[in-house]
Amino acid sequence: MTPPWRTDTAVVHLGRPAPIPGHPLNLPIEPASAFFAGGDIEYARDGTAAMAALEGAIGTLEDGYAVAYSSGMAAATALMDTFPIGAIIIAAPHLYTGVAERLRQLHTQGRITLRVVDVDNHVALSAAVKGAHLIWLETPSNPMLEIHDINAISTIAHAASASVLCDNTFATPLGQQPLRLGADLVLHSATKMIGGHSDLMAGIMVAQRQDMADHLREQRVLLGSIPGALECFLALRGLRTLSLRWRQAQTTAHELATRLVGHTGLSAVRYPGLPTHPGHKIAESQMSGFGTLISIDLHSTDVAETLCTATSLWVHSTSLGGVESLLERRRRWPLESDLVPPALVRLSVGIEDVDDLWADLDTALTIAANGT
Ligand SMILES: *Cc1c(COP(=O)(O)O)cnc(C)c1O
Repeated sequence: MTPPWRTDTAVVHLGRPAPIPGHPLNLPIEPASAFFAGGDIEYARDGTAAMAALEGAIGTLEDGYAVAYSSGMAAATALMDTFPIGAIIIAAPHLYTGVAERLRQLHTQGRITLRVVDVDNHVALSAAVKGAHLIWLETPSNPMLEIHDINAISTIAHAASASVLCDNTFATPLGQQPLRLGADLVLHSATKMIGGHSDLMAGIMVAQRQDMADHLREQRVLLGSIPGALECFLALRGLRTLSLRWRQAQTTAHELATRLVGHTGLSAVRYPGLPTHPGHKIAESQMSGFGTLISIDLHSTDVAETLCTATSLWVHSTSLGGVESLLERRRRWPLESDLVPPALVRLSVGIEDVDDLWADLDTALTIAANGT
């Protein structure tokens, strides 16, 4: 299923329609729910050509079998729906807020047993994983940017017959392929880097096993959480430039993180590309590049709040992975984990000029530090 192309080429051409003279090069947007009977597609909720194209493209990049959903959360909850009643689910301490909250809800409702485990403590993980169904992790994690060793964790999980899900939203299919490192499932919020322009919502679950993907696709017909024709078009359109955007934003993020170290306006810089980052070595071995997100710890919540409103180029907004640089204080969300420092601001680096981004951030940090 891997075409004879390098990744930079693959993202430009994966998921294109067959070359029929006179037909468009790109997947057309087909706003259709009903189809003439007797063909391959009978009803849009069963799956459309647009969904299949997006799934084929991401599945190839991740080296697995992809199933597309209406959002990252729809993909996440579709998988949760497959958990057997009473399943033990191990969660890393820092997961996307929505994922963590839904797992907690399932636990409270008695549908699963949730165990939050420090997945970097492999001795503790080996003990906790006995009898578990799945380990859910994110690397780099949101918003702490911790790095977890996917290969080591997968080895521990498989020894106990448990599966591993890796949320790969921050790394993108270009920065890291968890299935190749031993994970069983990969989650993407395509809303973020894959879409890349802050204008769509979509999610993708990629399974290492085809039968798992087939099961998820059959269940999606019943759950109804399908991406629309426009969303599939936009996600594929975004994918065309993912390689360029990823490279540019990542180079800029690395440079900004380096400049931020030692800035008097803050107390810590979290970026896996920094040699001082505790996960730097593992990131170097399992990722290509270090990602486009940086988290910084300000001196107080007030300073963090002021910073977010003091920039003129950086946009104060949640979300990440768009062409435009965004920042926000994560703890402004009530569901964000209280393990996240209240004065932590997450920076999502876009593709603007690095010196423009630096000048704006540097000025805003000074304004925030002076409390004006
Ligand atoms: C945004 C996000 C999600 C959820 O995706 P949506 O498309 O917003 O539903 C899941 N995981 C991570 C890491 C995210 O950043």
